[in-house]
Amino acid sequence: MNKIALNDLGRHTAPLRDALLAACARVLDRGWFILGPELTGLEQEIAAYCGAGHAVGVANGTDAIELALRALGVVEGDEVILSANAGMYSTTALRAIGAKPVYVDVDERSLNIDPDQVAAAITPRSRAIIATHLYGRMADMPALRAIADKAGVPLLEDCAQAIGAQQDGRHAGAWGDAASFSFYPTKNLGALGDAGLVTCREPAVAERLRRLRQYGWASKYVAVDGPARNSRLDEMQAAMLRVQLPLLDGWNERRREVARRYAQVRHPRLRHPDVEGTDYVAHLYVVRSAQRDALRAHLEAHDITVDIHYPILDTQQPVMQAFAGVELPISAQATGEILSLPCYPELTDAEIDRVCAALQDWQPA
Ligand SMILES: *Cc1c(COP(=O)(O)O)cnc(C)c1O
Repeated sequence: MNKIALNDLGRHTAPLRDALLAACARVLDRGWFILGPELTGLEQEIAAYCGAGHAVGVANGTDAIELALRALGVVEGDEVILSANAGMYSTTALRAIGAKPVYVDVDERSLNIDPDQVAAAITPRSRAIIATHLYGRMADMPALRAIADKAGVPLLEDCAQAIGAQQDGRHAGAWGDAASFSFYPTKNLGALGDAGLVTCREPAVAERLRRLRQYGWASKYVAVDGPARNSRLDEMQAAMLRVQLPLLDGWNERRREVARRYAQVRHPRLRHPDVEGTDYVAHLYVVRSAQRDALRAHLEAHDITVDIHYPILDTQQPVMQAFAGVELPISAQATGEILSLPCYPELTDAEIDRVCAALQDWQPA
């Protein structure tokens, strides 16, 4: 029996081969490789898709978080409220800025940041709130938007796992003062390399982002803003993404279908995530079990690849020792129970059935 991979990008791109090669040729023949018409086109298309005011391409999703926060005015020493279970990306951005992370716990059901905890953590030194839409399920944006507005603190959405999701008819990326995206190849919309993007509401924030992504330049060789850097989304990757954006909704629908099939497995030791609603685009399908490690071994013995997103809370990372004492009981408990199953559009029905059967057959001690 063949092994079921956690992701299969070869399958994903195979049917797109001709379209991707044609787009490559278009860029090659144009002879313009950085900050050109492909990126401008992609920025317009993503802004329109998300219903966001502006979109600015950057080099990757982590830079997107960092530059978005800087463009919103976050500087060294500022407090930023976030969850600790989202894979260290936001924390990495905060460390680059020198901002102070204020970790709060998550909602027990969605594992997204808990709005009540956010409200309780706001101080006069709070300069931003980061809501990561974890596993492709949107955080409670109406509640977070209201808290941010009341406190006058900017809200950043991390949409790296949730492009295409919608809450109350409004897309991820259109709720925050700014929103970050990653087009890492395994995301729901993936480049053939690294790429990222920020959407935002205010034209002034977009303008700042365009400066910060390129040496702080207001115009060629004139640096007016900073701390800045070089973080650009190149023309080749922009072209690869433009080929795929029109297919995203169809892929997300198939991902949801995979998730709904998994969720039908009834097993006393398994806890499924919520799979209904357009605010979930099934980036990851994460089950929970008190006997997670045994489940993992069982699935691996059945040639099903699984992983843990994420195995270490940000507060427990070796580089974060100053935060090791921060207590986040819901996040901590989930870390010991979560397991990600294969969930991508190209899984065959037979493979989905195999995963379901293996879950059903699991007999923990
Ligand atoms: C992938 C991811 C990122 C980082 O994106 P890169 O492009 O790898 O830098 C940030 N946040 C979340 C939630 C992610 O899943």
